[in-house]
Amino acid sequence: MAKSSEKPKFSLRLLIDEEKNRVILAEAGKDFVDVLCSLLTLPMGTIVRLLEKHQNPQSSVVGCLHNLYKSVADMDVDNFESQACKHFLLHPRSAKGSHGRDLKLNIDDTEATKFFVCPNFVSTEACRKLFSNVSTMKCRCGSSMHREIPVEEQQADGVFPSCRTSFVITDDLKVALNSMGLVMNVLNDFGYSGFDKLQEMLIDVGFEEILTLLGCLFTSEAPLTDTFLRKHCMSRKRKMLTPLVQESSVAGAADNLLTLKVYVRKTDRAVLYAECREEFVDFLFTFLAIPIEFAWELSIDIGNMGCVGNLCRSVKDLSFEKQKAATVSQCMLPYFYWKGTTS
Ligand SMILES: [Zn+2]
Repeated sequence: MAKSSEKPKFSLRLLIDEEKNRVILAEAGKDFVDVLCSLLTLPMGTIVRLLEKHQNPQSSVVGCLHNLYKSVADMDVDNFESQACKHFLLHPRSAKGSHGRDLKLNIDDTEATKFFVCPNFVSTEACRKLFSNVSTMKCRCGSSMHREIPVEEQQADGVFPSCRTSFVITDDLKVALNSMGLVMNVLNDFGYSGFDKLQEMLIDVGFEEILTLLGCLFTSEAPLTDTFLRKHCMSRKRKMLTPLVQESSVAGAADNLLTLKVYVRKTDRAVLYAECREEFVDFLFTFLAIPIEFAWELSIDIGNMGCVGNLCRSVKDLSFEKQKAATVSQCMLPYFYWKGTTS
């Protein structure tokens, strides 16, 4: 992987109020908006890993997910069906990972998905029915499925914005096609009648800035100001980011309810700890494989997720997917994670 200093940079034009040290809006090209949208497809586990590697100690911005990730990392491999299952939780794949590799700057360092088949693939019919994304899986015939097959990756066409070259991004990450009318509306919303009190600033955005922006997605009401003017994520005291499942989506599947015993302190009803069966732990661990956009759709308290909602809504509003209903990628774990196939 190339060093961050060798990674490409974007030019971003900021309109700022120097006196208030605040970004009013940014004008960006398709390349930058592509990268911004691609952040939504990153699984939560990937975000924890990327932010941990980032220079600033930002792991706390994703709250308890950091603890969940560490629990998986520290847990002995014997507790998982296979080494591959543990690996996929720690290195979950983005649903649109192949598109990520077409971006000008892809911050997701997860390997490209590979496909392996049994060496008896050609000679034995039963061996043609299975494929694996890891080379350590065993085929039904007992052989190790280590023969890699080349797979053509989908083209990026139609996933991220593709029609215009210029976009306006507000400080709270609402993205829209650039127009003078829109710019004036944003200025009016902030109480400016024109450009008199504002300054233009041309900046280079690279790998480090995108990672800071990724952290700010969760913690900041003004991610552009925090990333480009204050240069760090504001560590505001927010409620922990805790993925919650909406009652409505659970109610229809009463058979699938998980039960756990919770120990609560009587004085303030704080949960001290819970005792549960492995199904609940399994369920918790899958949060690491859920992309941000799907976590946001599931979340009851969207205030927990900073400006993620604005970005998700912008992607949908712009109908980037060429008339198709915007598809939100869901949990990205390979089939064998659920089948319990051993390797
Ligand atoms: Zn076989």
